[in-house]
Amino acid sequence: MTTAIEICERCESPLETGDLRCSICGQVSPADRPHAEKLTVQILRCRGCGAATAYDIKHQAPSCTFCDSVVEVETLEDPLEQSEGYLPFTIGQDEARKAMRHWLSSLGWFRPSDLTTSARLEQLKPLWWVGWVFDAESFVSWAADSNAGSRRSAWAPHSGQVEMTFDDILVSASRGLSDAEVSAISPGCDLATIRKEPEGAQNATIEQFDLQRSQARQQVIEAIQVIAAQRVEQSEIPGTSFRKTSVSVVLRKLITRRFSLPAWILAYRYKGRLYRMVICGQNASYVTGSAPYSIIKIIFVAVSVVAAMLAIFAAVAAS
Ligand SMILES: [Zn+2]
Ligand SMILES: [Zn+2]
Repeated sequence: MTTAIEICERCESPLETGDLRCSICGQVSPADRPHAEKLTVQILRCRGCGAATAYDIKHQAPSCTFCDSVVEVETLEDPLEQSEGYLPFTIGQDEARKAMRHWLSSLGWFRPSDLTTSARLEQLKPLWWVGWVFDAESFVSWAADSNAGSRRSAWAPHSGQVEMTFDDILVSASRGLSDAEVSAISPGCDLATIRKEPEGAQNATIEQFDLQRSQARQQVIEAIQVIAAQRVEQSEIPGTSFRKTSVSVVLRKLITRRFSLPAWILAYRYKGRLYRMVICGQNASYVTGSAPYSIIKIIFVAVSVVAAMLAIFAAVAAS
């Protein structure tokens, strides 16, 4: 449980119950703060991909929603992060099915012609996956080489400092979804729709945060550094190509919230093989997944290209 009851005197980040020091700037917390209540939770851990999902006696899944491997009950000790709220599903099962057909038909000419008609839906499961959403103010010092002002050599050194604000930045905490899947579907989520309880889907798999708080903070801080470096390359460093970009970020007012976000996980079969798709649970136009290529069409194009090259070669040789 998060109970952000006090604010760090130095950097104004909320202190969490049980923290002896501010986790952001290291300032010692007042000694009279309450201790963390001990908490243990049971989760289902996948032996294959490591995903942790909520343990539910009524609907205990025999296999992992993400990879179908065997799951085992595991007991986790405090301090564990817990979700603070759920974004509701606004896309139902039928819409998810339609989105699958639409996506398959939009993939282009190199896919099998009968992909949309022959793909058979094998599994369609609602999932709440987990992520951190953070706000922070920061002071970023950066250094990089760029092509600006490099004269005769290829690179010239640059450096600078800039203030940066982060607002509602989402960082995946999911083990079941890949980072690529998360970045494809998360722009379809509206963080303002957060509710206390899961809404809009029945029997959903509920993924759990499964990191200790200190590890979780470390992941959030690493994500902030990556975003800061991207922003610096986009708008701070002069020039058009860069190397050795490094940033040092001093954070203030870091507020991290833990969200559960909705997605549909689909498995479909085409010619005996299984493929996976993930659809944003709030906007069916945010879809990602795997799909087969048509080997025959690819060979046809390759052969045509070679034939055309030979024809040009022959024409040049003859002239
Ligand atoms: Zn602090
Ligand atoms: Zn798994």
